[in-house]
Amino acid sequence: MMSNPNFGVWRPMAESIEFNALESNSNAVMAVADTVRTTLGPKGLDKLLIDQAMNRHVSNDGVTILLSVRAIHPVARMIVEIAERQEQLVGDGTTTAVVMAAEMIKEGKKLVKELGVHPTKVVEGIDSGVRHACELLEAESRTISIKDVALEQVVNTSLSSKLDGRQLSSLVITALRIVGENAKFDGSFDFDKSIMVIRKTNMEDRIVSGLVLERKRVDPAMPTKINEARIMIARLDLKPVKESWLKDNSKYQEILSMENDRIEKSKRLVDAMIATGANTFLLASTEIDQVVEDLLVSHNVFAVRISIEEMDYMSRYTGAKIVRMIDDLSKPDIVGKADRVFEEEENGVVCIEGGSGKNMVTLVVSGSTKETSLERWRAAIDGVNAAEAALNKGVVAGGGAAELHVIEGVKDMRLKGLEQVGLEVVASALESIMRQILSNAGYNGLEKVMAAKASPRGFGIDIDSGEAVDMWNKGILDPLLVKTMALKAAGEIAKSVLRIDRNLAAENLDPQAVSDTKR
Ligand code: ADP
Ligand code: MG
Repeated sequence: MMSNPNFGVWRPMAESIEFNALESNSNAVMAVADTVRTTLGPKGLDKLLIDQAMNRHVSNDGVTILLSVRAIHPVARMIVEIAERQEQLVGDGTTTAVVMAAEMIKEGKKLVKELGVHPTKVVEGIDSGVRHACELLEAESRTISIKDVALEQVVNTSLSSKLDGRQLSSLVITALRIVGENAKFDGSFDFDKSIMVIRKTNMEDRIVSGLVLERKRVDPAMPTKINEARIMIARLDLKPVKESWLKDNSKYQEILSMENDRIEKSKRLVDAMIATGANTFLLASTEIDQVVEDLLVSHNVFAVRISIEEMDYMSRYTGAKIVRMIDDLSKPDIVGKADRVFEEEENGVVCIEGGSGKNMVTLVVSGSTKETSLERWRAAIDGVNAAEAALNKGVVAGGGAAELHVIEGVKDMRLKGLEQVGLEVVASALESIMRQILSNAGYNGLEKVMAAKASPRGFGIDIDSGEAVDMWNKGILDPLLVKTMALKAAGEIAKSVLRIDRNLAAENLDPQAVSDTKR
């Protein structure tokens, strides 16, 4: 930090300007990237996260780790943000994005500081290189269908570094096969609408061909199971008379007439509900009057509360239309169907199976502790996301092989002048994935990468034998989308970091302005 004698005692100003920002920002990024790079790939190691209260959590998941580390440098925070964005957009490949970003920043900094290349040249080169690399990866990709063995391979590859990856992977694959083509909406797969993943510590891993609600039936006197369920989904007001209407000084007569009114209205309501032929009620109402509940019990029907968010799933699965007003009760076809609805009292869940609407599956992911179930739950979702991305946009050779073999193509690009050197930055990033995966497996990463480079396209290194193998044959496949998103995200972050030449301490920045500069 420089101190300017002219400032006299007023030193904060001098201290609030950080000279040599590139050096310090890049160091901060490296430090953060180093916390996750060793988790990359099937032999990546785990991190033990410990909070101030000494709670412990073991994780192998890039975003989880990054989001858990406290007090990090503001520029390094950008890295956390790309990891988060990658997670939201494709749900996998977060460590890949971070490793590539760090590599680009490291190499870009060398060009700027050691060779004196102007940052804008480097940045433009990165831009073109990333775009071209994405096109080349796309050209390499192959499409797969829901029946292909390649689908299993993508899921296996995505879960290979996770806790119980094998077991989770077969769970995910079974779920994908059950929903099959039914998970297509407007021509592309959208598993968010057809595969639920829930976590339970006190249950075994399980697949339910249907929906699982973590609920109990409304009243224990109701039957625990209904076969050939005729299902109503209601968002009705089930408290026809509100107690708050009674004033403190209400007369006995008023109370009595209100009570009669309440019974009368409840009875009419429940009669109308039963008249639809429904014997199972999924209720998204905030309150249920005790009289309504008792009447439902007396009709020997099954009723369970659901959330407003759950209504759509239920409707899609059972074919029931959502009843919002009493008048809706007389409309045709509002009742849906399922083969069975039952409560498993010991597990605290209600299952709905054999719905007559769209195919849906629920994956119940267990874990001996809350943390393991959380980690396994995230992993299962990663697997589902990887499958979705692979089905929609195709797959490329995994283990860093696809990235490695597009390097030549990227370097063959001809850019004007010094921008050409920016391509080197992208090339290093493309190479860094295989190198890191192999270093994490105990090999000399660089040496192995050279061997893979000299092999035909699609070849990488077998993680167990260290030999060059065809990743397509070996079934190590990654979704194209995960790779291109990671590359683009890495490029974005590298560009922003390389462009900064000063970090300045500022007064209360307008959040809008701050988020604008982050882009
Ligand atoms: P990310 O957070 O980026 O998804 P992962 O730890 O899940 O990080 O590692 C993903 C990388 O590991 C992918 O590049 C994938 O191809 C690679 N990988 C998975 N299984 C293997 C394997 N058996 N051999 C080599 N690479 C593998
Ligand atoms: Mg992954």
